Amino acid sequence: MVKLAFDDIWRALDEIADPEIPVVSLVEMGIVRDVQIQNDAVIVSMTPTFAGCPAFEQMRAAIVEKLRALGVERVEVKIVLTPPWSSDWIAESARAKLKSFGLAPPPQHGGNVQLFFPDAVACPYCNSTNTRVTNHFGPTLCRAIYFCRNCQQPFEQFKPL
Ligand SMILES: [Zn+2]
Repeated sequence: MVKLAFDDIWRALDEIADPEIPVVSLVEMGIVRDVQIQNDAVIVSMTPTFAGCPAFEQMRAAIVEKLRALGVERVEVKIVLTPPWSSDWIAESARAKLKSFGLAPPPQHGGNVQLFFPDAVACPYCNSTNTRVTNHFGPTLCRAIYFCRNCQQPFEQFKPL
């Protein structure tokens, strides 16, 4: 077994794209919570963005495959649902990428969230706040669909969770 360093493992995990938002990694999204090395096994703890996330199997398989490629023989992926995933865990670097992907990044809420839908969401294309929500539930439960009155473009906002 190769000698593994935490840095190498985190770097490898940071190369795994979020299956729903391929411009950001699972690490940047705060989905990968923890890495532990026990003897010849690597244990990765992850928290899906919401329970029952359909992309979960895909993420688990990608983590196993990635670490096997590093020479890890035993990979264990643990699902941690408590505390639930929070949009506050999204790395600062990922917020700009979400925006370039046409997704308005969620505001930081510091744990005080009422599953609110902010009225003044800035359009990721033109930064105008002259926007309105058209659908509280977008293609996934994590997103809401907005419409920008300024540039006449629909866009999605990542809901603060
Ligand atoms: Zn706009």
